[in-house]
Amino acid sequence: MPSVVNSSLLPESLRDDFPILHQTVHGERPLVFLDSAASSQRPQQVIDAVSRVYEHDYANVHRGIHVLSERSTDAYEAARTKVQKFIGAKYDHECIFTGGTTASINAVARSWGDANIKAGDEILLNPMEHHSNLVPWFQLAERTGAVIKHIPLTDDGRLDLSQLDDVLTEKTKVVAVTHVSNTLGTVNPIAELARRAHAVGAVILVDAAQSAPHLAIDVLALDVDFLAFSGHKMCGPSGIGVLYGKESLLSAMPPFMGGGSMIGNVALDSFTPAGLPSKFEAGTPPIAQAAGLGAAIDYLSEIGLDKVAAHEHALVERAYAGLSEIEGIKILGPSPEHRAGLVSFVLHQPHAHDIAQLVDQRGIAVRAGHHCTQPLHDSLGITASTRASFYLYNTPAEVDALVEAIQEVATMFKPTGRKRRPQ
Ligand code: PLP
Repeated sequence: MPSVVNSSLLPESLRDDFPILHQTVHGERPLVFLDSAASSQRPQQVIDAVSRVYEHDYANVHRGIHVLSERSTDAYEAARTKVQKFIGAKYDHECIFTGGTTASINAVARSWGDANIKAGDEILLNPMEHHSNLVPWFQLAERTGAVIKHIPLTDDGRLDLSQLDDVLTEKTKVVAVTHVSNTLGTVNPIAELARRAHAVGAVILVDAAQSAPHLAIDVLALDVDFLAFSGHKMCGPSGIGVLYGKESLLSAMPPFMGGGSMIGNVALDSFTPAGLPSKFEAGTPPIAQAAGLGAAIDYLSEIGLDKVAAHEHALVERAYAGLSEIEGIKILGPSPEHRAGLVSFVLHQPHAHDIAQLVDQRGIAVRAGHHCTQPLHDSLGITASTRASFYLYNTPAEVDALVEAIQEVATMFKPTGRKRRPQ
């Protein structure tokens, strides 16, 4: 493959910020980490921010009138303001800290869903969703008697908007859709979906687990009602995520968890909830993780999400071109122009798990399985695929190493044309 000098690529020197990447595995194989869609790595700046909290500032937030509690509270709330700016929200109290994308979506399905959905109402999903954006809605439908509908997909793995009018009607109360598919890589047209959802009086929830780390997001420009994402996929710590909701919606929603911090007042047999955002942050929150998420946002913002997206686009184009040349490969999802920085594929042989194991022996970390998109895999007639996902620290040389390794595996398992003896 030609060594292209591509101006959209980020400088390789930023890898120096990520200590974990500088290691060899299985003997002397340099680690090639292509599994960031599952969970990314963190720069030293984020690791330091978390350590700083534990070394100097840690105490519970919002509770103590002592210096450490004040410092912790300031760091925690400063992180909220960073999140607000990162996604372009109007108010910082529209940004609720949760445990992650899954927790955020469950919170909406429980709190907004139970208060607003009744038997016969329709919930509009689609087959490319992660289980985290399916199961909470199935559970809501079970509780309420609501009906699940799906936007069909095109053959190349995009939402088939030509059929949207058939499934998005006055009965639709919520459209729940991923911004970027974690299996197909498809980037969905969120602004258009929001406009169409609002036109029938529905709200839209966007699963931004695979977009917030990679693309600049502006919730006001997109006009989404809810947005969910996770810290651990965007250079931040695990155990923290965000639920953004429009103030008008969050204010009207009941708290989905009861306990400390979320109350205004408690009597022997009743309580009044606190205002936003505390109403939705019962118990001790992820304090050091919030500081880490704030540092991750600083890190990504300093580089610029547009540059991150361009870098990943260059990598995914290279991967797509290289992998497409391999005999017997099937790449899932659309052409690079419609996708973000990941590529999933199947070979005639071997199974995805064997591919992942074989390339791991060469130091290359990829994902194998259904990636929590079992209905999508079912609809494609496969049980598993292999996924390589790229982030700001990956290089063209790593993409080439992947292509070379997959080529070797495909050659090893090339059908010989000889009939196998029955076992
Ligand atoms: N949604 C998508 C599209 C994802 O890729 C993931 C994680 O892989 C999730 C939701 C769930 O994220 P978390 O496990 O951080 O809650």
